[in-house]
Amino acid sequence: MYKVAVVKCGSYDSSEVMESLNRALALIGGIDTFLPASSSGTILLKPNLLAGEPPEKAVTTHPSVMQAIATTLLQKECQVQMGDSPGLGDPFKTAVKSGLQPVYDLGVLPADFETVVEMHSPDGRVSRRLPTAAAVAGSDLVVSCAKLKTHALQIYTGGVKNLYGCLVGLNKAKQHFRYPDRDVFADFLLDIYTAVMPGLTIIDGIMAMEGNGPRTGTPRKAGVLIVSGNALAADLAALQVIGFSPNKIPIFRAAKKRNLRPFSIDEIQWLGDDLADVQIQDFVPAVTTRVSFGPQFLQRPLRNLLIAYPDINATRCQSCGACMKICPAKALKMVGGQVRLSRSKCITCYCCHEACTYGAIDLHCGVLGRTAAKLMRTE
Ligand code: SF4
Ligand code: SF4
Repeated sequence: MYKVAVVKCGSYDSSEVMESLNRALALIGGIDTFLPASSSGTILLKPNLLAGEPPEKAVTTHPSVMQAIATTLLQKECQVQMGDSPGLGDPFKTAVKSGLQPVYDLGVLPADFETVVEMHSPDGRVSRRLPTAAAVAGSDLVVSCAKLKTHALQIYTGGVKNLYGCLVGLNKAKQHFRYPDRDVFADFLLDIYTAVMPGLTIIDGIMAMEGNGPRTGTPRKAGVLIVSGNALAADLAALQVIGFSPNKIPIFRAAKKRNLRPFSIDEIQWLGDDLADVQIQDFVPAVTTRVSFGPQFLQRPLRNLLIAYPDINATRCQSCGACMKICPAKALKMVGGQVRLSRSKCITCYCCHEACTYGAIDLHCGVLGRTAAKLMRTE
């Protein structure tokens, strides 16, 4: 059984977060259980810094959570670094914009998320060679400090998906072009997970995100911190909290196929507060889905009815070009000062949706797609 601590935490007040984190860590054996053997070992804190957004938007891991884990590790005299690779932009500036300067002020060093090092994924099914940030390859312990959010492509993002930021900058968008299929991409995420193998996972579900995550969804109070030595186990617990079935999540379908455990809720040891006290019954999924049924000849026409495509809102669009820069399929172009989408080129990776600072890219699909998205919550 894989231990997971799920503890209530009602706000981002720093003393409340510290208390909740301490309680969670104690439930799974204490922080000492997870430290590198050598005190000179480097620990990398890997928050979700999708983009430089203020903490209240619930896009990024909250600074209070990062301060709590950093303080805990620094008290143990560990060498602690922190960083992430946003899709676009400078990693350090993105961290500061996301409110993380106070964490660096504690004595945490900025991690190198610009130098690319090829990391080997021994159990890689999709790829064994990963263009990883030097900070990841050089650390003795990676702590995945994730944010509990919905995700347009992968339905849910937490401890495992957070590791996608271990790949550097535009390399991430390129991988979407190489692996456009959602299930293959989930398998690729597991290649990254098994190569990085975080020793500790903390999911910030105090303010989660529902709807069209991971950037333009709606903040939703879930009031929990989830902590585990196993990222899949932490994710299974998070899915229970928001009422999503792991059987509908591509990462868990892929984990089951390759027998990467745990992939079922029966395999985790739930510690801390009762599920009934933390579960949300009406957490809203993203309006996105994929056809995975019916005969092959029907899949293409059905796909166009079901799938959500980016839709540029001309009123909100500032013509900054960020979406065009990140689009791996070159499906966007500027025509007369307005961004236009070529559906035939679009691989529906939603990188543009994540990259747009102005929330000018909506995701729209037809009635069939919206119905399928609702069915996705449970079996
Ligand atoms: S990123 Fe957003 S604001 Fe910038 S051009 Fe694209 S749609 Fe417009
Ligand atoms: S237009 Fe957006 S969703 Fe389509 S391929 Fe480009 S980045 Fe991906």
